Amino acid sequence: MKTRTPSKEPRQEAAIARALVRWFRRAHRDLPWRRTRDPYAVWVSEIMLQQTRVDVVVPYYERFLARFPAVDALARAPLDDVLEHWAGLGYYRRARQLHAAAASVVRDHAGAVPADESALRALPGIGRYTAGAIRSIAFGEPAPIVDGNVARVLSRLFALRGGPGEAAWEKRLWELAGSLVPASDPSAFNQGLMELGATVCTPRAPLCPSCPLARNCRAHALGRAEAYPPARWRPQVERVERWALVARRAKDDALWLSQKPAGEPNAGQWEFPLVEPSPGGPPDGARVLGAIRHAILARDYRIRAYAVPATEARRASKGAWVVRSAPGARAITTVTRKILALMEPRASD
Ligand code: SF4
Repeated sequence: MKTRTPSKEPRQEAAIARALVRWFRRAHRDLPWRRTRDPYAVWVSEIMLQQTRVDVVVPYYERFLARFPAVDALARAPLDDVLEHWAGLGYYRRARQLHAAAASVVRDHAGAVPADESALRALPGIGRYTAGAIRSIAFGEPAPIVDGNVARVLSRLFALRGGPGEAAWEKRLWELAGSLVPASDPSAFNQGLMELGATVCTPRAPLCPSCPLARNCRAHALGRAEAYPPARWRPQVERVERWALVARRAKDDALWLSQKPAGEPNAGQWEFPLVEPSPGGPPDGARVLGAIRHAILARDYRIRAYAVPATEARRASKGAWVVRSAPGARAITTVTRKILALMEPRASD
């Protein structure tokens, strides 16, 4: 059987763009950030969507925009307040950078998110992808974007050699994204590429028969859609054992928490003291609360939580008594949140 080999001719590119835009207008999921062209709202959504699933982001996005409806409101807010509204999304560096970038927009751009690529990329936390998303979605500029979903779609469409981590492969993806994005509706095109990758051209079992680009897709014509791109190189995961020391002050139900130092993941957040397991066994008077797991970067934490006397927790780590129900209670790490969930059944102890 003769297979169709897509060319990268302008006519072919225009046909791909037209088919994708038509499909996106008809089939896209209704998500809150798709109902706006406000550059600030688009920016917040793009930062939240990095490393976090769409269904998780939706309620956070809505709460965040309700509390910080415009860039100046975010710039004025204390960082602790911003981190509290981020708590649970993880990767808190994103929130800190967003906050710093909002201050820079107010200071250097009179409070208006810039449309210019170099001005956007000079802001903390905005790289090539986020700048392209803001420019195309909010400002209607034909700026390309490449994220994981787009990379998968393009590498299949053109049956690209190479894969993640190879500079030549990534360069080619940006070139292709740049040559495909149309001047007429770059927003629908770019969002269409991402949407197609998320819902149709999925990593496993892509739905090629219902794909609007099937007739232009080389990997599909070869019957090898899943072979592109090749499996990502996975870093070795290090297993780390820790004990969490949970001390509670009876009179006000406060918890002894320590603050993560600058330079560490989740810097500024609060958590139960974590210590290396002692060969001599748990501290005197410790009672097992349970165990949790937490993966972050290339580490797989196995954490056993112990209720301990206050003296043990205070000896283990500097910290402060934090009353959880107090207004403005400090932002806590996901690990701490998981340990608190272990304790809930014991709340009436
Ligand atoms: Fe992806 Fe299949 Fe569509 Fe090609 S035809 S873009 S492999 S879903």
